[in-house]
Amino acid sequence: MGPLEIDFAIVGQGLAGSLLAWQLIRLEKKVLVIDDGHRTSSSRVAAGLVNPLAGMRFNAHPRTNEWLDSMADVYQEIAQALGKGAYFHPLPMQRLFRSPEQRRFHRRQLENAAVQPYLAESFGPDEAGPAIRAPDGGFCQQKTGYVALPRLLDDLRQWLRGQDALIEAESLPGNVAADEDEVRVGERRAAQLIFCEGYRVRDNPWFDWLPVQPDKGEILRLQSSQPLTHDIVNGAHWLIPLAEGGYRFGATHEHRQIDCQPTPQGRSRLEQGLEELLTDATGIEIVEHEAGVRPATADRNALLGTHPKIRRLHVCNGFGARGALSIPWHARIMADYLVDGALLPTDVDIARYTPTP
Ligand SMILES: Cc1cc2nc3c(=O)[nH]c(=O)nc-3n(C[C@H](O)[C@H](O)[C@H](O)COP(=O)(O)OP(=O)(O)OC[C@H]3O[C@@H](n4cnc5c(N)ncnc54)[C@H](O)[C@@H]3O)c2cc1C
Repeated sequence: MGPLEIDFAIVGQGLAGSLLAWQLIRLEKKVLVIDDGHRTSSSRVAAGLVNPLAGMRFNAHPRTNEWLDSMADVYQEIAQALGKGAYFHPLPMQRLFRSPEQRRFHRRQLENAAVQPYLAESFGPDEAGPAIRAPDGGFCQQKTGYVALPRLLDDLRQWLRGQDALIEAESLPGNVAADEDEVRVGERRAAQLIFCEGYRVRDNPWFDWLPVQPDKGEILRLQSSQPLTHDIVNGAHWLIPLAEGGYRFGATHEHRQIDCQPTPQGRSRLEQGLEELLTDATGIEIVEHEAGVRPATADRNALLGTHPKIRRLHVCNGFGARGALSIPWHARIMADYLVDGALLPTDVDIARYTPTP
């Protein structure tokens, strides 16, 4: 049997599959990505918000600095290599307090050296800007912004296609076979296969035991006859002013009805959120309403690693609601693991869920 034509096949061209392909190709590996036309892509729907202090208590993940550095490098490197405009748009964020308790959390975090780099000055009630209702005031955050994910995914798709590294198809379990020598995906033969399918990993017969907790989200794209804000505003919902004009507003969370269909209930929840956030919501047009499913996990850490028995099958998933910030770092360590055998950190390695023999 001749040498294998593909080093790494990847299922899924969301942000995870795209950036993993980017890293592997940089390491001079032959890659083939199989994607079903973004049929259920969370990355295409996402606002791409980068927020180091997620959550009600404004805590930062211990690797936030590494994620931020990696993110800035990777998005810039891709924009330069492809000759495109910047994908990451740094923008300050006004964080609105939602309760007196949150004001206390913020005060406590001012003493916390780990989060100080992300904090700027506080502001009082209704000082967030003329269009924004902020009855409890808030504070400014730094090192925030958004990533233009749909444009990034389109550009990377074209780049993959240009080097014959993309197949537009659904990868069905019946078309995949792995043995000691190779992996077969339909007619193609690869040395290794990495699944980057987002929440649909729960239907993957080799990795359906991973504790993915799908979290459906709905989101709006808006046009407004008057300017609403120059900064990102983040309270019960977030509002992002886009470089190309218009705004994104979101997002809902739903854990029971898991699909990618926008619903009337989701839309009315968002419309109500908009009324609550803006001093005057007249002159606003909803130009798009979309839905997707975040691949969240039980412990909020990513899921990287190798199948416990079939050593040619791998997974790179579990990025929840912060893929734009964290996937660049994870894709790099996954590539180093696959190519050089570098160790994965134990908190992201799926070995934490496999029984020890
Ligand atoms: C409404 C909403 C708002 C969000 N906002 C933000 C935000 O502001 N900031 C942020 O960081 N994150 C946000 N997220 C989360 C973000 O989308 C995810 O963290 C990230 O995009 C996940 O990327 P992924 O590549 O793992 O999965 P996905 O983007 O879902 O990619 C998986 C790809 O694989 C394809 N696929 C799956 N199965 C198969 C198969 N069998 N064969 C072929 N192709 C297959 C899918 O169609 C898709 O193209 C949001 C999510 C939602 C839903």
